[in-house]
Amino acid sequence: MIKIHKSDIVPNRLATAGLEEKVKDMLDFVCDSRPYTNTARGSDIKGFKNSIYGDTTVKEQLKSDQHNKCCYCESKFTTNSPGDVEHFRPKGRYKIPGVPGYKKPGYYWLVYDWNNLFFSCEVCNREYKKENFPLNDNCDRAIPHLKNHLIKSEKPILICPTEKPENHLEFKEDTLIAKDLRGEMSIKYYGLKRKGLLDDRLSSFNRLKGIGPLKGDLNKVTQEIVNFINENLNENYTVDSLREIFKLNNDLINESIIDAGEFSLMARTSFSI
Ligand SMILES: [Zn+2]
Repeated sequence: MIKIHKSDIVPNRLATAGLEEKVKDMLDFVCDSRPYTNTARGSDIKGFKNSIYGDTTVKEQLKSDQHNKCCYCESKFTTNSPGDVEHFRPKGRYKIPGVPGYKKPGYYWLVYDWNNLFFSCEVCNREYKKENFPLNDNCDRAIPHLKNHLIKSEKPILICPTEKPENHLEFKEDTLIAKDLRGEMSIKYYGLKRKGLLDDRLSSFNRLKGIGPLKGDLNKVTQEIVNFINENLNENYTVDSLREIFKLNNDLINESIIDAGEFSLMARTSFSI
């Protein structure tokens, strides 16, 4: 994860149709909250409009703001899978890990809220995060909207992608480590140590390790560079060609540590430039 900087411009579909639906839901809840709170099977369950929050313009803006990466695992996956428009605060109901069943209502008034939407891969969203949304203190929960409890009073345990994940997560080489409970829970409920992801991060790490210095290894690397030059400075490699090789390698490391780089938190915490 890295901190995501979302566009200040709310997509038009959310600002128009989304706002209308939000107002309607808030009024409907006051008149009759049962569709939002019913848990009985077969009862009249409130549905939300994917055609608004999942609109192409919304998804494309999220993808652009997130450099085509999942908000949780930082994978670039869109060639094989379309990805989801993910609600950080669950829309219809939520789950507190360790507590049986689901709680209702969900955050129905944030279904079309730009600040609550992110682009995520299907594995992070559907297999791990799902509707889990624990708080530090459940008494602070801002549900329903009529209560005096406000979103800003909530202290979510899972890391929000607009926070700084590095306050709670760090890498030692390719190994992801939790710095606190929020990091630990985010690893678990975003599936950040699942097998396929570990493999992908390891191959990215090994690719960078082949070309750049690990943090703290600068002295060793300097010596390696001297050795490399001594061994290769011959008729095949001139000083200029070696300089070009180092520049290309440095550019690759640079591309990996910027926000657009896949697994950039790992790259920026593990490699020097
Ligand atoms: Zn993901």
